[in-house]
Amino acid sequence: MEDLCQQVIDTYRELLNENSWASDEVKKKAIEKLDKIAIHAAYPDKFRDTSDIDISDCSLIEATRRIWMAETKHDMSCLGQNLDKDMWAEGFNILTCNAGYDPSANTINMIIGMMGETFYSSDMDVEEMYASIGAFWVGHEVSHAFDLVIHQPEHYFGRKALTEYIHDLY
Ligand SMILES: [Zn+2]
Repeated sequence: MEDLCQQVIDTYRELLNENSWASDEVKKKAIEKLDKIAIHAAYPDKFRDTSDIDISDCSLIEATRRIWMAETKHDMSCLGQNLDKDMWAEGFNILTCNAGYDPSANTINMIIGMMGETFYSSDMDVEEMYASIGAFWVGHEVSHAFDLVIHQPEHYFGRKALTEYIHDLY
């Protein structure tokens, strides 16, 4: 999976280099961001310890409240801390059939839950895998690194150069 993701990123780099309408400076900055995308494949190397969340002996509603409170407490404890790149962003449940781009960490998250029939099978030809996982999932998520309206990269990286690059495009 990591190899496939890297191959898609490498293809993006080639396409950006060959782009005829963006300036060299814009292409350089886009490739700079592309090369900083971290690949999260299948499931995190580290999972957050949630053993302190006690949901025994309570109702479903109370359990949901306790989990929500623990999540909020955890989120608040992260404020001002350096990002742990081995941890995946909250909200990426590895059992869901989904993938995502996390703009705050510049990561693509290819969740193992999507690697079932329809999208992935060990019987697939390489071409089928490139089409389903490579193009549909990985290519799509990498494209979110260049979303202009939603992610506003300068907010996440504090790099004015990227803001200028965004403005160059419009
Ligand atoms: Zn999307």
